[in-house]
Amino acid sequence: MSRVKAVFMDVDGTLFLGESAAAGAVEALKRVREWGLKVAFLTNNSFYSRRMILDKLVEAGIEARLHDVVNSGFAAAAYLSERRGACRVFTVGDVGLVEEIVLGGHSLASRGDEADAVVAGGTRDISYWRLVEGHRAIMNGALFIATNKDHVYVTEKELMPGAGALVSFLETSTRRRAILVGKPDRYIADLALRRAGLKPEEVVIVGDNEEVDMALAETIGSHGILVLTGISKNPSSKKWLVAKTLKDLPDRLSKLL
Ligand SMILES: [Mg+2]
Repeated sequence: MSRVKAVFMDVDGTLFLGESAAAGAVEALKRVREWGLKVAFLTNNSFYSRRMILDKLVEAGIEARLHDVVNSGFAAAAYLSERRGACRVFTVGDVGLVEEIVLGGHSLASRGDEADAVVAGGTRDISYWRLVEGHRAIMNGALFIATNKDHVYVTEKELMPGAGALVSFLETSTRRRAILVGKPDRYIADLALRRAGLKPEEVVIVGDNEEVDMALAETIGSHGILVLTGISKNPSSKKWLVAKTLKDLPDRLSKLL
């Protein structure tokens, strides 16, 4: 008897290619739900807040609830609350990250020397001087958190430098390693599992990045389906099922049920 109860969907490179929904995304998720499986959204995207991601999903015709969206900015805020309580946070990231930090009960530090923690994530709007403040905070002993270390992110046209590139800047200058809370670290997955009331073996992780999504599935002991529409084009392992596009997802998933 199958124990699979839910699918944890990656968003960028999987459900969305840049700002548009991937071919077959809406239909695939409809089928998954018809089979009685729960769908949650597990994404390293920290540009956006969960609310912004929800809006994007709903606009594309994908049924979703805020409770079922877990992103790496939310995970960073939760990690800080769990380990340190309410913090003064210096962010090196985008507006969506700031929103999650504030919603998580933390305050924003405007200078590095006022911060208990630095949270670094993806952003398209960064200055050298913001990085200097982040550097200063970490050198002063602030906790150093990375929402994710993805080397690139997927747009319609090309792969762009990801959060990992900015995290590397600070890791290099401070010679400190950031604590990772996003995929492939298990923290974000454990958070999503707790919210869904599920065990790892009851979940199928679907994503486009072998080193991130499939590595996570392997770490926590979930099933994995790699979709070839994003970062990974030539899977290096036979450990997971492969779907060329989301149109193949129901077929691959049916092998696990
Ligand atoms: Mg992805």
